[in-house]
Amino acid sequence: MNTTIRKSQTAVMKSFDNLFIEMSAKCCNQKCNHCYIDFPQFKKVEDFINIEFIEQSLNELKNTNIKCIYLTGAEPMTHPDFNAILRLCLKKTNVCICTNGSFINEKKARFLKKVEDESSNQIIFRISLDHYDEIKNDDVRYRGAYRQAVFAIKHLLKYNFLPIITVTNYYKEDVNKLCKGILEIFSDNSLQISVQPWHDCNSKLDNEITKWARLDCEYGRTLTSKGVYTCPFLANDYRGRCGSSFKDFSTSVPLETNYCMTCTNCNHEMFGINFQ
Ligand code: SF4
Ligand code: SF4
Repeated sequence: MNTTIRKSQTAVMKSFDNLFIEMSAKCCNQKCNHCYIDFPQFKKVEDFINIEFIEQSLNELKNTNIKCIYLTGAEPMTHPDFNAILRLCLKKTNVCICTNGSFINEKKARFLKKVEDESSNQIIFRISLDHYDEIKNDDVRYRGAYRQAVFAIKHLLKYNFLPIITVTNYYKEDVNKLCKGILEIFSDNSLQISVQPWHDCNSKLDNEITKWARLDCEYGRTLTSKGVYTCPFLANDYRGRCGSSFKDFSTSVPLETNYCMTCTNCNHEMFGINFQ
C-alpha cells in the first residue's frame, strides 16, 4: 500500500507577549456566516470561564512579562462577570476587548473609560467591521451589525479610546480600497485597521507549510475553561492542546491544521497586536 505521510513544520514560542482568555467558547449574541466557531444550531450555550480559574492562571504567570491580555469569545461581553474580569486583568497589564461592539453604547463607553482611568494600564478595543458597505457587511455578519459596530466605534472615539477595526476580508477585496472606505465612515485617519484573511472552514491543508511571517502561537497562548491552547483558532481543539495550566505547558506546536494555513497566508498575527 502506498501511504503518503506529510511532514509538518513546528512553530516555537519566541516570547510570551499575548495572553488570550476565551471568556466563552460558544456564547455569542450573533451567528455570522463566516465565523470559524461551530455554534450549536438551536441550543443557547452559556459556557463561561470561571473568574477564580483566571485568577489562578494569572498567579501562575506572575513572572511573565505579558504585554496584553485579550478577552475573546465567541463574544466576551456576554460573560456575566465581564467587568470583574476586566478589572482583574487590568491589574496585570493592558487589556484588549475583542468584540462585535453590540454591547457598547454611550453609558458603557463612559463606564469603560472610568475603569481605565482607575488603572495604570490601558484598555484597547478590537471591533469587528467587515465592509464599508452596510449591505455587504450585514450579508456576511448579521442584520444590523454594521450600525451596531459604527455606533460602538463612535462612542469609543467620543471617550478618547482609539479602537482597532478588525476586518475579515471575506470578499477578497483590495486591502487599500477596503481601508479607505472604512476610514471615510468615521472621517478619522488616525483609526487603525487590521485586515485579515477569512478562514474558510471547508478549506483543506494540501501542502506542507514552509514559511510564514508572524504567528499568534509564537507570541502567546490561549486560556480556556479546559486549559491552555496554542491560539484562539485551536482553543479547545486537541491539536492545539498545550496543557491543563500555566504551571507546565508546551511551547511548540506542529503546523498541521487548515487554520494554520490561514494564519501563514496572513502577513501578521491573526489575533494579537504586534507591540514591537
Ligand atoms: S460576532 Fe464574532 S463570535 Fe459572534 S458569530 Fe460573529 S464572528 Fe462569531
Ligand atoms: S492556527 Fe495559527 S496560531 Fe494556531 S497553531 Fe496554527 S499557525 Fe499557530
